[in-house]
Amino acid sequence: MKDKIEALRKRIEERLNEVKDLNNLNELKNEYLSKKGPVSELSNGLRDMDVDKKKEFGKLITDFRNDVYSKFEALKEKYELEELNRKLEKEKIDISMPGLDIQSGSPCIEEKILEEAEDFFMSLGYDVVEGPEIELDKYNFEMLNLPKEHPARDAQDTYYLKDEEILLRSQTSPVQVRAMLEGKGEKPIRIICPGKVYRKEDINPTHEQEFDQIEGLVIDKNISLSDLKGTVDAYVKHVFGKDTETRFRPSYYPFTEPSVEIDMSCIYCDGSGCNMCKPKGWITICGAGMVHPNVLRMCGYDPDKWQGFAFGFGALRLAMLKYNMDDMRIIHENDLRETENFDRKEVK
Ligand SMILES: [Zn+2]
Repeated sequence: MKDKIEALRKRIEERLNEVKDLNNLNELKNEYLSKKGPVSELSNGLRDMDVDKKKEFGKLITDFRNDVYSKFEALKEKYELEELNRKLEKEKIDISMPGLDIQSGSPCIEEKILEEAEDFFMSLGYDVVEGPEIELDKYNFEMLNLPKEHPARDAQDTYYLKDEEILLRSQTSPVQVRAMLEGKGEKPIRIICPGKVYRKEDINPTHEQEFDQIEGLVIDKNISLSDLKGTVDAYVKHVFGKDTETRFRPSYYPFTEPSVEIDMSCIYCDGSGCNMCKPKGWITICGAGMVHPNVLRMCGYDPDKWQGFAFGFGALRLAMLKYNMDDMRIIHENDLRETENFDRKEVK
């Protein structure tokens, strides 16, 4: 029996030496350690022995079986570890490799103009006020001295939502009406109202149906046209540079009296005349004026005691000028090839 065990041990050890991987090992395990394999069969030899021999050789067989098992287990662990290492090696992440190129754009230049305007006017003590984009005809037109059938309404082709009473605001002026109503004819007002407005326009390089305005309103006592000039001039210099000049031209708006259009000296040719200023050396950038007495009265302010000025800039137009764009549609298109170039195009 002892010889039998030793012969089997030798055979198994030889075979184990030839094992190359986990598969080989499992095959070998099936061959030798299954229920009907040679290791189990050793026990058959115990049947005819007497009790003492049974005990003696039974122990030998058990020890032998345990020994063989632990050899298989040790090899199994070795091969499993090797395989794990191979996998880890294969899936290793090289953190020194350059990453995937993520295409990045740039903040929308219209948004930058709006933020810059908010910062500037807040530094002058203005509040930034917002209002609803769906508005009442009453606030968008009537209380701004534009009763129904007023011919100047045609100048702003408006999206009506319901019965000519509810509309998408065509200007941010209704925010000013709301502010004046809130002031109840008693409080001075100093606000800007940046926000989206909507008009039925044919879309082309210089017209959009949806764009941002920056309107401002100041109501107080002893306010004059020169306050308006000083304010707008300071803002334009802030955006386009300190050498930029402004001039007033008489104009007409129903909600202001007198009304003015404000031009700035051309930032492209410094006034000598070019394509942008065609060829006068001046570019129109703002509509403004003193708040019409009718508007003050309708909104609860006594025009004998209170005066005010209002102005309106188009943020898209300012962005086009500042970043030298000839097509405003590009600004809203989110084409990364364009937006990443915005900053490079800044004129001043
Ligand atoms: Zn010019």
